Amino acid sequence: MDIGFSGDSDKIKKLIGSMFEYLGENPHREGLQETPRRVIKSWDKLYGGYNSNLDDCFKTFKEDNVIPYNQIILLKNIEFYSTCEHHLLPFFGKAHIAYIPNKKVVGISKLARLLEHFSRRLQIQERIGNQVTESLMQRLEAKGAACIIEAQHFCMTSRGVEKQNSIMVTSSLNGCFLDQVSTRQELMTLIHS
Ligand code: ZN
Repeated sequence: MDIGFSGDSDKIKKLIGSMFEYLGENPHREGLQETPRRVIKSWDKLYGGYNSNLDDCFKTFKEDNVIPYNQIILLKNIEFYSTCEHHLLPFFGKAHIAYIPNKKVVGISKLARLLEHFSRRLQIQERIGNQVTESLMQRLEAKGAACIIEAQHFCMTSRGVEKQNSIMVTSSLNGCFLDQVSTRQELMTLIHS
């Protein structure tokens, strides 16, 4: 049984076989016989975001009102992998996620998990950044949140204009990272230090 996804996986295997025929391939040749099964299996990881629970990303530490957490918490250079919803092709790179807490803080690994939650789906890069910052603002009631993403897109590098080294950069800023120039500058210095 294929874990995680609902629906008829035999039907999807047949569709993948039809795709081979469309390409002019023989779906019954030895090298391709098991491919539909492997493709579906790979989706557990590639599209695992659909089966992950956002609550698990926000198991917060106990509120500690004694410590004023008035500082930037940044996790930088987090690798990620996603799939472009326009072409079903990969895009991947690294993200920098930061927030300024109010009362609630999460374990730093949860920021990486949050990125996985939103990236392991059919996506566009801009939306991943927004979803990360919006969820940090809402769930943690953070003073500010930021998600800067640098990614290479297969739909740019391997088809279309074929620009091998192009990197798309998006910067989703929320709260004080958006309102205060000095806070934003401090973040950029931390990211590039
Ligand atoms: Zn694309």
